[in-house]
Amino acid sequence: MTTTAIPLEQETNPWRAAEARFDEAAARLGLDNGLAKVLRTPSKEITVYIPVQLDDGRLEVFTGYRVQHSIARGPAKGGIRFAPDVTLDEVRALAAWMTWKCAVVNIPFGGGKGGVVCDPALLSEGELERITRRYTAEILDFLGPERDVPAPDLNTNEQTMAWVMDTYSMHVRHTVTAVVTGKPLDLGGSRGRAEATGRGCMIVTTEALKRLGMRPEGARVVIQGFGNVGGMAAKLMAQAGYKIIAVIEVDGAVYNPHGLNIPALMAHRRETGSILDFPEAENMDRDEAMFLECEVLLPAAKENVITSQNAHRIRARVLCEGANGPTTPPADLILAENDVFVIPDILANSGGVTVSYFEWVQDRQGYFWNEEMVNSRLEELMVSSFHNVVSYADKHKVNNRIAAYMLAIDRVAFAIKLRGIYA
Ligand code: GLU
Repeated sequence: MTTTAIPLEQETNPWRAAEARFDEAAARLGLDNGLAKVLRTPSKEITVYIPVQLDDGRLEVFTGYRVQHSIARGPAKGGIRFAPDVTLDEVRALAAWMTWKCAVVNIPFGGGKGGVVCDPALLSEGELERITRRYTAEILDFLGPERDVPAPDLNTNEQTMAWVMDTYSMHVRHTVTAVVTGKPLDLGGSRGRAEATGRGCMIVTTEALKRLGMRPEGARVVIQGFGNVGGMAAKLMAQAGYKIIAVIEVDGAVYNPHGLNIPALMAHRRETGSILDFPEAENMDRDEAMFLECEVLLPAAKENVITSQNAHRIRARVLCEGANGPTTPPADLILAENDVFVIPDILANSGGVTVSYFEWVQDRQGYFWNEEMVNSRLEELMVSSFHNVVSYADKHKVNNRIAAYMLAIDRVAFAIKLRGIYA
């Protein structure tokens, strides 16, 4: 097989990956060049410098970004991540992916993403609160239930969203719960939101297995990441009869060919701070565990874990991308050659933003749904989106990822055409 050899650091630039997929899908759609230019360019990029007093009295300045990629179909929507290696290119790519993700599941949002360059592991709760509030204050003019609605992402959570909501509300002088999603239940959050991304991964994986003539019962699953997405997916999939044979975290992996007891593994991690040395499993090298033979591989951590360097070693039938951007474009070619059924990130992990949409609707109505209603509407939307994507792929003879992009780009392009270009 021949992949054009490009340096790994270019291969793993998320914005390049987003552009490569966009360009391929736009070409297949025969999209007009001008419209393609509009669609691939973010609509707004904000960089802010956040002065914060640390606990020891020192002043530090952190860098933060908020990118609004598109507001053609509704307010910008997407998470805020805190990480030491956040870059503008990464946030830009993640914002574009949110646009396509919301369009794939056909919810009335555009796409946005935020990031603050900081290492949460080295910061106290108070420091994190001050960073969050000042970051929010700096981007406040661009936020709002009708403008831009953040949510949690890597290293941010319900508490972070409560601070964003409170800061925004203090400035506008009244409580605006719908300015963020992924909030605590008691502050206008939605039932089912915390599990939504993991649940969505399970729903589409089950559909994929059915399509391949396989069954969830006993299907071997390898999960990378044991946080909000991976942890929830592991729990729900184990309950549904899948066999989670390995869980991979930053410090290593645990493996049990007969299936891991997920609630016990969660308890073990709570007690010891690590998944390693779990009594009912063997420790394994984290890079090796990715290549175990399995029915389902579910990367649910960070970008760029499957590249041209390692894609040929994947021995999964189905790749369900719980993370955003886990696979690089050159790796896609290798996976296709090896007949791995890919459920692309913009479909696979769209359960989170779908329930964010439900949360936003509930906040604006002031009327809250029970969990059953949230879960059944999520299932309905994800099952139909899955089938739309795979039938589009069959019809146009493209892979699932390009099909998802084509479907999404077509929807956003249609909205732009209807609205026209304001001058
Ligand atoms: N951060 C999540 C994602 O990447 C959720 C975004 C949201 O709910 O707005 O999809």
